[in-house]
Amino acid sequence: MIERRHPLLSPTPGTSRELVSLHFGPAGSGRKVAIQASLHADEVPGLLVAHHLRRRLGELEAQGALQGEIVLVPFANPVGLSQWVLGSHEGRFDLASGENFNRLYADLAPRAAEILEPHVRSGKRVDVAEARAALRQACAELTVTTELQSLRRTLLALAIDAEVVLDLHCDNEAVLHLYTLPALWPEVEPLARLTGSRAVLVADVSGDEPFDEACSAVWQRLSAALAERTGSRIELPEACVAVTVELRGERDVAHEFAVPDAEAILQYLAWRGFIADAPSQLPELACEPTPLAGSIPVLAPQGGVLVHARPLGATVRRGELVAEIVDPLGGTVTQLESPADGVLYARESRRFVTAGTRVCKIAGREPVRSGKLLSD
Ligand SMILES: [Zn+2]
Repeated sequence: MIERRHPLLSPTPGTSRELVSLHFGPAGSGRKVAIQASLHADEVPGLLVAHHLRRRLGELEAQGALQGEIVLVPFANPVGLSQWVLGSHEGRFDLASGENFNRLYADLAPRAAEILEPHVRSGKRVDVAEARAALRQACAELTVTTELQSLRRTLLALAIDAEVVLDLHCDNEAVLHLYTLPALWPEVEPLARLTGSRAVLVADVSGDEPFDEACSAVWQRLSAALAERTGSRIELPEACVAVTVELRGERDVAHEFAVPDAEAILQYLAWRGFIADAPSQLPELACEPTPLAGSIPVLAPQGGVLVHARPLGATVRRGELVAEIVDPLGGTVTQLESPADGVLYARESRRFVTAGTRVCKIAGREPVRSGKLLSD
């Protein structure tokens, strides 16, 4: 294992942070996986999975069983790690700018297309390795003026040329679920089986450029940008399978979850040929993919005490009671119904909420939303 340290842009004299990445397996084979945890710095389940991955990847490396480079970034967000406010860890938004740490990753396709244009014009075919080199260059050229921007560039540089990118997150309270591009589903299906995912939410554009899409959707965008620049028909493959893995809820931090989750990730990598001894059989699929535009948040119409009525993972029908908001002053109980048939895959973890809070989320089959599809 090689440990690499990446200094971030220092915001002021006298203070500096660095991102640390752990590299397993042979580099330079052209095959690479990038796994990061806690980009939302207060989401802890991924840290424990990273701990078990670190140990197992070390063993597999010692056995000579790794057939590509595997980059593990256990602490993907050193900026957010330090954001403790009045005793609470605020790891989702950058306190300096208010920006979500998992948004606003650069679209590298326009610059990479510019780099590759002469190649295409000279009549040569662009292969994946050349496209990855152009993406690396485009990433290295990104201008950064803040520590946060330099964090985003550093994370992107570690993952942009990877064949598999797994971004480990968690929800408030949730069953394990995944986010990815619709076109990647055939490649992601084995991961859904191995992790026992209860929902897979797919969208071509979720809005505001989350990390996984910056790594995966860039391939479709690069084909389109190159075609536009050169007038040639360019069809690059979907060369990066990027998935946001939501490891249940924020308090689901236990070895009984993390050990099998780490093992599921390793088996997925084995299935993809990164580790010797691929699983001969995959577990049953626990869900089909549904559109992210069909994931409907149930909003609290007023503040009060939140009483959930259905457990996580429940299959609910439209109109079915999912939660109550209790006002002990007025003596009212407001019943909240599911807006669709689907799986109740995530719930608010606080039990006292203000008006407008997303009380729970239902993965429905029909797309009903448009615009920005992710929560803030
Ligand atoms: Zn997150």
